[in-house]
Amino acid sequence: MLKFGGAALKDGPAVALAARIVRERGGERPLVVASAHQGVTDLLERAAREAAAGERLWDELRIRHRTILRQLGLPGDLLDPQLRDLHAILGDLARGGPADRRCRDFVLSFGERMSARVLAAALRREGMAATAQDAFDLDLVHEAEEDGGAVGPPPPRVGEALARMPGVAVVTGFLAQDRAGNVVTLGRNGSDLSAAWFAEAIGAEEIQLWKSVAGVHTADPALVPAARTLPALSFEEAAELSALGAAVLHPGTAEPARRAGIPIRVLSVAAPADPGTRIDVRPSAPGPLALAHRAAVSLWRLPLDPGFRRGEELARILEAARTAGAAPWLVEASAGEAALVLRAGRAAGGAPPPPPARGELVAGLAAIGVVGEGAGADETLAAGVERTLAAAGVEMRWAPGGRSPRGRVLLVPTPRLGEALRRLHAALLEGACEGIVSPAPAAGPS
Ligand code: ASP
Ligand code: MG
Repeated sequence: MLKFGGAALKDGPAVALAARIVRERGGERPLVVASAHQGVTDLLERAAREAAAGERLWDELRIRHRTILRQLGLPGDLLDPQLRDLHAILGDLARGGPADRRCRDFVLSFGERMSARVLAAALRREGMAATAQDAFDLDLVHEAEEDGGAVGPPPPRVGEALARMPGVAVVTGFLAQDRAGNVVTLGRNGSDLSAAWFAEAIGAEEIQLWKSVAGVHTADPALVPAARTLPALSFEEAAELSALGAAVLHPGTAEPARRAGIPIRVLSVAAPADPGTRIDVRPSAPGPLALAHRAAVSLWRLPLDPGFRRGEELARILEAARTAGAAPWLVEASAGEAALVLRAGRAAGGAPPPPPARGELVAGLAAIGVVGEGAGADETLAAGVERTLAAAGVEMRWAPGGRSPRGRVLLVPTPRLGEALRRLHAALLEGACEGIVSPAPAAGPS
């Protein structure tokens, strides 16, 4: 099973390369999952939100896809049915049609519908029989959640349907149907999750996630130049990293793979021969492994009724955050106080969460997750983090509810995020300041 992310399908030459990779690396009967071409989901999201701009954005989308077809030497009208349907729904929206969640997901679905057809056509040009398949026409039901969430095991009929398809099935990532049969999305970057889900459905040998970056890194290489590729991770470590904000994997991805015992490989189209990162069942060595981050969160503290209705009040608080367009991410409740780390909810379209009606809100924060076996309980590690940031003059605090067996989250002012990440990376992951972490068992002379 091979999944290609948006950056790995960004233009005609990228799609042609993906088609060659399928032929060379896909084994006898590859199953392929496609993301929308890079940037297309963002354009669709804007088109769904700014109905008045729909016509202009549709034009942009049409030109973008026609260009890719031309670069590949494919028929210029290949995507006309999808472009026509998209035009119709955007027209409905501009005339005041319902701009609800269902409609938004429907609009977003056109990105993958089109890229899967383009990739299938490119595979046929490579001489492989290939068919595009819309995931929402398979019997795969997902109850949409804020962040895509987790998915249960796919019913056997999904695997059977895929097995019956002639040639290479190129399935749309990111999409499923809800119980009522509507198209739903799995949350941004959800194609990773689709890939793991379909791999489980067909009992794939391996899940290859083809991206434009070389594997999972010790930190975001865009912010930390010294970050390096991690050769191997356990499913649990990968899940923790993505849960704490590492953008390289959708947070739900590791679970279906772990459940089905299928190893994941994160590979780069820029260097297809590189081994990338392997995610598999493996013992974890204690100590810090990587840093994850989220650039825009807020901390909300408010008094909590110490009485026996604390749970109910907490439920109301969570609901209030959601209605205000914020997603409660980390939560801690004590007898007298609730503390929440909020991030922008789906309705807010990536904007920072708005101020709540009561309590105290600190906005403009970034969250850093220190990930590694035992990180939540390792006080030596915590002291090292505090010392490192104090030495750099970066104000920090531990995030409420931010401790887990494999991670510990801290908050810093967003403008200091890059520096904090670089300092912590140097101290914890480059071996520059020995003594911060409890030393790992001696590995023998090297
Ligand atoms: N196209 C979707 C997105 O950009 C899903 C994905 O790329 O995995 O979020
Ligand atoms: Mg993407």
